[in-house]
Amino acid sequence: RLVLGIESSCDETAAALVTPDRVIVAQRIASQDDAHRPYGGVVPEIAARAHAERLTPLIAATLADAGKTLADVDAIAATAGPGLIGGVMVGLVTAKALAMAGGKPLLAINHLEGHALSPRLADPTLAFPYLLLLASGGHCQLLLVEGVGQYRRLATTIDDALGEAFDKTAKILALGFPGGPAVERLAREGNPRAVPLPRPLLGSAEPHFSFAGLKSAVLRAKEAAIHADADLAASFQQAAIDCVIDRTRRALAAAGEVTALVVAGGVAANQSVRAALESLAAQHALRFVAPPQVLCTDNAAMIAWAGIERMEQSGWTLSDPLDFAARPRWPLDPNAQPARGAGV
Ligand code: ATP
Ligand code: MG
Ligand code: FE
Repeated sequence: RLVLGIESSCDETAAALVTPDRVIVAQRIASQDDAHRPYGGVVPEIAARAHAERLTPLIAATLADAGKTLADVDAIAATAGPGLIGGVMVGLVTAKALAMAGGKPLLAINHLEGHALSPRLADPTLAFPYLLLLASGGHCQLLLVEGVGQYRRLATTIDDALGEAFDKTAKILALGFPGGPAVERLAREGNPRAVPLPRPLLGSAEPHFSFAGLKSAVLRAKEAAIHADADLAASFQQAAIDCVIDRTRRALAAAGEVTALVVAGGVAANQSVRAALESLAAQHALRFVAPPQVLCTDNAAMIAWAGIERMEQSGWTLSDPLDFAARPRWPLDPNAQPARGAGV
């Protein structure tokens, strides 16, 4: 069997062909970094137009890479939310058209479920339940992943997402766009203890994350012009990691028995974040699982894989309705209580 995945919820236009035995037969990811760089961030209208221009040829090229046609595909999985609504609609409407034209099942996938299950695409031995840190541009959550479709949110951010904090720090340090990888690179040349920065909610009884105060402190330190940028980047990254480890340790205590500590989402591409989580897992005698970098940032293989997981669960009988509406907001855990503030 073969599933076509489509991703267009932010600024990556992506398509992939994946099999249930975890072979990524082909995948293409067209980044829009150049289009958004002049604005220092993703502009939704530009993103939507770029997806509309690029997606259909990208899907054709992905099929051609694999020597396949639409007839060889058993289902079409597309991100249906959450994300920038224009882009999501482009991907979803394209998937619907292909599903209708080819008489194939449509799978409307939650982008966060794609991130949450991506570690299982990378590692066939990763079993439920696992504790997942989902750290991306729009989210920072600790989730108990109990099964496909069973996600218990233990913590979320009360202000900024972790990737957002990296992106804002990059902006403050004029490192350009996209920011996360640039901060990581500069941090390698700096001293992580050079700049005293706050660690919001460290040791708090509250389970959640907060990064807004850290970002503001980076801005004040930059304006004070005392420290080298590399020291600022390294100190920011260390403060963020200290927060992440403290909150994750707390969640491990609350989660009960788990098979592994897992990280996914764009920030999981960060080597220092991965190393810190790996050593936390070792302290708890737990396995640590992180997908390869290409599966951390946005991609369509994880969307195809989430489709495969849902299909396997249903005995390959599933098909979402062709009038499934794109969802700008779509929490993974519908029972999660709002964190204080505006957290989602
Ligand atoms: P969401 O998944 O919440 O909808 P998104 O899809 O925009 O958001 P992803 O593509 O999963 O997010 O991740 C992008 C984020 O990851 C950006 O904030 C980026 O700065 C961050 N990121 C990517 N690589 C790194 C890195 N090496 N170090 C730190 N952060 C990184
Ligand atoms: Mg991106
Ligand atoms: Fe994402």
